[in-house]
Amino acid sequence: MPTCPHCDVELVAFAVPEALREHAPDGAAAAAICPRCLRVTPREATGPAGTDPEFGRVHDAFPRGEGGIAVALLLGALPKLTLKRDSIAALREAAEGAGVDVELTLDRVVGADVDPHFDLERRVGQFGSLLG
Ligand SMILES: [Zn+2]
Repeated sequence: MPTCPHCDVELVAFAVPEALREHAPDGAAAAAICPRCLRVTPREATGPAGTDPEFGRVHDAFPRGEGGIAVALLLGALPKLTLKRDSIAALREAAEGAGVDVELTLDRVVGADVDPHFDLERRVGQFGSLLG
């Protein structure tokens, strides 16, 4: 597994379901999130799409499956909150459709052992007021 060029931490790779691809970086079929700086980067699709991503390395209570993938992509879009507002709204809907409490999850990530490359707490606050 490749590591994050910024933090030297192993990335958490995941396949992007077709329905979410337009919200993925570069519209990629696979992406990866750094569990430390939370950068989300596109990846070459490798391996079967059904494998369970290790989102537990971001936070113990990070949602699994498609809900987790939607939240991971949402975290990738958060630094460009105003620009990507439509994507963020769609990803939130997808996550909630998978049974995820998005605001609770984001709060947990704020409190997790992360070192975000952007002002996560501020963006989560704006997320709440823009889309809450
Ligand atoms: Zn990183």
